[in-house]
Amino acid sequence: MTTVIVGAGHAGFQGAATLRQRGYEGAITLVAGELGLPYQRPPLSKDLLHGETTAEAVAFRPAAFYEKKGIGLRAGDPVTGIDRGARHVDLASGTRLPYKQLVIATGARNRELAVPGTDLDGVLALRSLTEAKALAERLGAARSVAVIGGGFIGLEVAAAANQHGARVTVIEALERTMARVVSPLMAAHVTGVHEQHGTAVMLGGRVAALLDDGDGRVAGVELKDGSRVEADLVVVAVGIVPDVELADAAGLRLENGIVVDEHLRTEDPAIWAIGDCAAFPLPNGGARVRLESVQNAADHARTAAAGILGSSIPYDATPWFWTNQHSCRVQIAGLVAGHDEAVVRGDRSAGAFSVFCFRGDDLLGVESVNAPRDHLAARKLLAGRTTLSREQAADPASDLKALAAAGQPDPVA
Ligand SMILES: Cc1cc2nc3c(=O)[nH]c(=O)nc-3n(C[C@H](O)[C@H](O)[C@H](O)COP(=O)(O)OP(=O)(O)OC[C@H]3O[C@@H](n4cnc5c(N)ncnc54)[C@H](O)[C@@H]3O)c2cc1C
Repeated sequence: MTTVIVGAGHAGFQGAATLRQRGYEGAITLVAGELGLPYQRPPLSKDLLHGETTAEAVAFRPAAFYEKKGIGLRAGDPVTGIDRGARHVDLASGTRLPYKQLVIATGARNRELAVPGTDLDGVLALRSLTEAKALAERLGAARSVAVIGGGFIGLEVAAAANQHGARVTVIEALERTMARVVSPLMAAHVTGVHEQHGTAVMLGGRVAALLDDGDGRVAGVELKDGSRVEADLVVVAVGIVPDVELADAAGLRLENGIVVDEHLRTEDPAIWAIGDCAAFPLPNGGARVRLESVQNAADHARTAAAGILGSSIPYDATPWFWTNQHSCRVQIAGLVAGHDEAVVRGDRSAGAFSVFCFRGDDLLGVESVNAPRDHLAARKLLAGRTTLSREQAADPASDLKALAAAGQPDPVA
């Protein structure tokens, strides 16, 4: 029995590790498109840019781990095709690997910015360790940095650039930052912290072109309204697109990602898709979504590994995310999109509070900034589908942990 895992990011690595942990005795081959040891991505836009960790320290495990666990790591030899009929994959080197079970964990790649000038020297993006090292090297010398895209990664890069002493401008096309993942209230708080540090945040800014200094180096950004932002370093962080080409060429169904069922299995019973590339149904008849987080990748991997080992437990994890920007450690439990009321708990002026996002009486998600206890309790409340009233959410005296443990609301005095 052989399992081949395509992609050695958070999902692929966790899939291989979990299979072994749970006693899988077949062969496992983990095929990595990139050279080197598989590594974690979150530190790339945080500790690595702040000089607080090294490229070596971000590896999941040392090389000896793969040997000890009998995981065949093939690094720098990407899969080029899947033959579903014959059940094998082809690698760039010409090697052919047969499989009994195939796990597609190809993740995502950066969305490109379709304007002139993106090939100029000094225009960078951030997804891989190689890109992170290049950015870390340039940040030290940059005097003015323009970050295009005010999502998590763009804002983390902006915070790092600011702390390196550069003049920083964030250009966001929408009317607020982090619009896809956090409430307007939390976005305003975090954006305000960037501004207090001297970063300019331009909302509704549409980029027309990146400007050439006449010598092939970037000199700034031109916006569609004709205004210009000077910059000797431009970071493009306008989101990602799932890496689905292999699945597409193999005839698997796509819908903003590779379509899987509640067990993370594609329509081909021998093929699973997990992590950033997988479009999966939320529990209890919820919508089909594709999420981009370490929690999602790792929990998908655990569910698929269990499935390969014969269990049929559906995927039911509560999503959670985090981002660190300046003094803000933001943690989000649940999915807040579509909420109609935001209830604040804690002291906004002290920079430590949570936002409970409700739709009707349903708690959809909780965003916490520098309030890790609220976050942990929120994850339990959401996992247990505990009913919480707005009064309980807002009252710092109500014990969220106890409510989550009891799985029942306590009467509000
Ligand atoms: C800079 C940065 C910071 C982040 N910070 C956070 C954070 O703070 N918190 C959080 O929750 N999430 C964070 N994320 C998101 C998180 O890292 C991703 O959600 C997670 O990595 C998804 O894991 P994955 O395995 O699905 O995909 P990936 O990590 O993208 O891994 C997929 C791998 O597959 C490989 N691959 C693709 N095609 C092939 C092929 N044909 N053959 C072989 N290999 C292939 C790719 O090279 C890649 O290494 C961050 C992401 C980035 C880029």
